[in-house]
Amino acid sequence: MRALIIGAGIAGLAPAGALARDGWETTVLEQAPGPRTAGYMIDFFGPGFTAAQSLGALSNLREYGQFYTRARYVDAAGRTRAQLSMDSFLNAAGGKFFSILRPDIERGLREWVGHSTDIVQGAKVVSLDPGRYPDSGAPARVTLQDGREFGAELLIGADGIHSTVRSCLPVSAGGRQGTGPDRFLRHLGFHVFGYVFSDAALAARLGAEVLLTDSLTRQAGLYALPDGRVTFFGIVACDDPDPDTAMREDLFARFRGLGPLVDQALERRPADMYEDFVAQSVVGLWHHGRSILLGDAAYAVSPLAGQGASLAVAGAELLTRTLRERGNDLSTAFADYEAAWRPVVEEQQAAGRRNARFFVPPNRTSLLLRRGALQRMNLRGLNAFVARRAFGSVLPTKGQRAR
Ligand SMILES: Cc1cc2nc3c(=O)[nH]c(=O)nc-3n(C[C@H](O)[C@H](O)[C@H](O)COP(=O)(O)OP(=O)(O)OC[C@H]3O[C@@H](n4cnc5c(N)ncnc54)[C@H](O)[C@@H]3O)c2cc1C
Repeated sequence: MRALIIGAGIAGLAPAGALARDGWETTVLEQAPGPRTAGYMIDFFGPGFTAAQSLGALSNLREYGQFYTRARYVDAAGRTRAQLSMDSFLNAAGGKFFSILRPDIERGLREWVGHSTDIVQGAKVVSLDPGRYPDSGAPARVTLQDGREFGAELLIGADGIHSTVRSCLPVSAGGRQGTGPDRFLRHLGFHVFGYVFSDAALAARLGAEVLLTDSLTRQAGLYALPDGRVTFFGIVACDDPDPDTAMREDLFARFRGLGPLVDQALERRPADMYEDFVAQSVVGLWHHGRSILLGDAAYAVSPLAGQGASLAVAGAELLTRTLRERGNDLSTAFADYEAAWRPVVEEQQAAGRRNARFFVPPNRTSLLLRRGALQRMNLRGLNAFVARRAFGSVLPTKGQRAR
């Protein structure tokens, strides 16, 4: 049985390795010419951590994992306005937590997948037929931009938030209006930037602390890596879901003046920066025929939920396990997987929307509330409750942590 996966991101690589181990002949089609190197530091915890453990991929990811001692919220004059101990967060996550660069998650998963899967780079899918099931003579088929065609008994659309596979499936946009691929997106009113650059002096200054800005309508953050690299992320309020080049430059410039270290990081912006509007996928049904959507294509939660990578791995583990347990009966497996997984991701999407004012305070009252909340947080006892409110049921309860 052949499985075709569109997209070699986290949601594409995770099912590729799992299906190959279950005996599927697995091919991944990725539009980029090589591994994607853009992106920033992600906190990896929650269901993806446990799923990576079940898949046997956790050690490949941990190899690139980083640990930070605390996050410090600093104003433009360099004064610490609030802070958060990472130890207490680690405790709230039951010890199942590390930080990792987004490209390093891909790197770890590629190493885990190894030679079990054929990964075809420079393969941009432009159209597809989702196939019919159980009709064995009707495989799913895709056509690439260069005219090549591929067919398979199972097709997974893991091609991210602007998914082409999603626009080719006869699925509804969950009641949303409009046309084009982005009709499936709920725009949250922010734009995000992220990149990695080398600056040994800045990295040494930051050390094992995460620097976050105590700022209104935008939030910048810096993490150092032990090899002298630094990763920058910035989220800024923006009502336009499709800003033009000049406006994007203007949005990027809004991080200037948030402090000398941030200014230094802005000067080091590389060409391969990650940049996108902040949105969530809203898709009425994730599957049709022999095809199913996975990861951001189906259920992007947004960087405000901080769980995109974790939910990509966890969704992949659940989908492939359900396929195995249902004897590869696609109809039953797809329906059971979607029924079990949809409530989990919808809860995370709600948490992401709730968190927006906390991550990017829109006014001075919200900023002061955030300072107060952070000062009270030690995430044990009462603050484990706060953490669970922010991240939903992806964090273990006190009883689960004790186990
Ligand atoms: C370059 C990049 C950098 C990112 N950086 C961050 C970050 O720093 N922080 C953060 O929170 N999130 C980031 N994200 C989003 C984050 O990776 C996802 O939220 C999460 O990991 C879920 O991953 P995914 O595999 O579903 O989607 P994605 O990571 O978006 O992966 C989708 C993959 O599909 C490929 N693809 C798309 N269309 C086609 C097509 N038609 N044919 C073939 N291949 C296709 C893309 O090139 C991409 O490799 C980034 C995404 C990308 C692509």
